[in-house]
Amino acid sequence: MPGFEIFGDEERKQVNDVLDSGILMRYGFDGLRNNHWKAKEFENNFAKKMQSKYCQLVSSGTSALTIALASAGIGAGDEVIMPVFTFVASFESILALGAIPVLVDIDDTLTLDPKAVEAAITSKTKCVMPVHMCGSMADLNALQTICDKNQLLLLEDACQAIGGSYNGKPLGSIGDLGCFSFDFVKTITCGEGGAVITNNKDYYVNSDQYQDHGHDHVGKDRGAETHPNMGYNYRISELHAAVGVAQLEKLDAILEIQKKNYTLVREMLETLEGVTFRRVPEGGEENYSFLSFFLPTEELTKKAINALSEAGVEANFYWYTNNWHYINGWEHLRNIKSLTNVTPEVRNQLEKLNTTDFSKSDAVMSRTISSLLKISWTDEEVLERAEKIKKAIVSVL
Ligand SMILES: *Cc1c(COP(=O)(O)O)cnc(C)c1O
Repeated sequence: MPGFEIFGDEERKQVNDVLDSGILMRYGFDGLRNNHWKAKEFENNFAKKMQSKYCQLVSSGTSALTIALASAGIGAGDEVIMPVFTFVASFESILALGAIPVLVDIDDTLTLDPKAVEAAITSKTKCVMPVHMCGSMADLNALQTICDKNQLLLLEDACQAIGGSYNGKPLGSIGDLGCFSFDFVKTITCGEGGAVITNNKDYYVNSDQYQDHGHDHVGKDRGAETHPNMGYNYRISELHAAVGVAQLEKLDAILEIQKKNYTLVREMLETLEGVTFRRVPEGGEENYSFLSFFLPTEELTKKAINALSEAGVEANFYWYTNNWHYINGWEHLRNIKSLTNVTPEVRNQLEKLNTTDFSKSDAVMSRTISSLLKISWTDEEVLERAEKIKKAIVSVL
């Protein structure tokens, strides 16, 4: 999966362009920057790649989510529906705006269960935030229908699924807004970085201003620019953007390797009775960064995870007991461990997490193993790994 595995001369060249001039900022200093605008270049290239009108490059995937919500006017008191299986960034970005995260079940797609979404809608709901975990997508048709019917915003978190598609469209480009992360372990990386894409001009203009203290970015004199709305600083630096420019060029090649490696492992595991695979919604194509599969019971899955670790097979994830990706591990959220005051309505919602029944998600997550597919492995290494995984599973089934 991660782009850092293939950091090379192409990235160094892009970064050196920036180091040569010493203009590390994405705005201004026109005469000194040797005409290098790495952030702008990335945004133009990425918007094209994602078949979207606009792209705003920012400092992280988490800030991208916050900016996307803010750009659509979502804030204090508004409810945002998100899945119980994701990364902590989902609720962090919502809470940062004073909005209320409403956590709901996932299904065998490992993403939002549309029925659970529908059941969670209230008069305060403003947005549905599917998270395309581990390279594959939510049932976007079903979610779009629910959003249309209830006039809700559809915001795709595509941080883990860059390059995947749904009905021929790039993931992230289907909802009203889509967000990506380019942190160091993502499919392509800037070191740190993120992006918002949209076809909505208002959301784009709002994103552009919000991530830079409200700057309207009109004219050539930064100090004289006006600030139509209050903002924040979520800017990316030119150095980070430069890495991204080179990495984006490698995306197609990365996806191709991932698909090949995924297929080798999958074909091996498909021969095993008792192993089933995560459901990919009809019309969807994964980005193949992980192969996620189910064993028949929680007990067998735990045994398999132990067997894999004893056999020294790295990078197999059991999210069910992971601190960062599943609600079971988020005791800081459930117990409202906050450095700052939390509004009563947020507190109310979070307190409910301790008594809400998520057994439907537990039943899926407790049987899920996700196997990472590195791009630096040779075919022999992938096959050897697949054999070891097969052997570990057979030993417990
Ligand atoms: C990585 C990730 C993010 C946040 O990205 P950062 O750039 O690390 O802030 C958000 N959502 C998901 C699903 C992620 O995997």
